[in-house]
Amino acid sequence: MTGFAAIALKVAAFVLGLAFGSFLNVVIFRLPREGLALDRPRRSFCPICAAPIGWRDNIPVLSWLLLKGRCRSCHSRVSWRYPLVELVAAFLSLFVFQVEGLTVRYFLTLYFLLCLTAVAFIDLEHLIIPDGLVIPTIVWGVILAVLDPLPYLVGDNYWFALLDMGWNPRLIGLVGAAFSFILGFGILFLTGFLYQRVRGRVGLGDGDPPLMGLIGVYLGWMAVFPVLFLSSVLALLSVGVLALTGRGTEEGPIALRPVPFGPFLALAALIWSFFGPAIFAWYFNLFA
Ligand SMILES: [Zn+2]
Repeated sequence: MTGFAAIALKVAAFVLGLAFGSFLNVVIFRLPREGLALDRPRRSFCPICAAPIGWRDNIPVLSWLLLKGRCRSCHSRVSWRYPLVELVAAFLSLFVFQVEGLTVRYFLTLYFLLCLTAVAFIDLEHLIIPDGLVIPTIVWGVILAVLDPLPYLVGDNYWFALLDMGWNPRLIGLVGAAFSFILGFGILFLTGFLYQRVRGRVGLGDGDPPLMGLIGVYLGWMAVFPVLFLSSVLALLSVGVLALTGRGTEEGPIALRPVPFGPFLALAALIWSFFGPAIFAWYFNLFA
């Protein structure tokens, strides 16, 4: 492939990501709100003045910059979350394209990462993780594991050992995905259950165990413990920073308020899906 064609494809992946990000903003805004569906109303509208948003004010990132982050009709502020989500989606699309090329796996991996992004922003704002987002993504992940099974789901050694025993690769993929789901879901479910028993209050949201199961299905069971560890560290650091800077004081001390865990799980899974192998290699080299 010539240099020009390669660059054109990367630009296309980035622009496609911007378009996905624009749709992701619709998902993040509408999914957790009563009375709104993804296709109803058909046109996007300003949440403050309800004016419909024309196509030229709906161009990812660009429109937000040109309108200086304000609504054309009522001039109320439009959250920086909109261009941020669009840029995140664009870079995710570009990165996944560089790893996978234009394949089915590009679309399904990107779907997984965009789902994590939506979950993170919805949980941050509403303290819920919508089943309507997580469950279909789990189902797609299991289908992907059967259609295009890869060793990482069960680990290289187990993969070849099972193949030697005459297992069908698709069956290994299915078992790997199921085991990874049960491990991810089970650990957080048990943690939440025990916390509630010991402390007498809810420590984890209902949506966290399925989200961890989802992450297991896409990243494999060996990613479950590192992602849990990484997300806990990120959550503790954030709570610490918020407490030190006094940001938690408006609605009472941060330590007494529910903290959404979904965004940290999502961020840890995102980091792991790009840097997991490198982190694994670094960790094992420490002891080599
Ligand atoms: Zn408006």
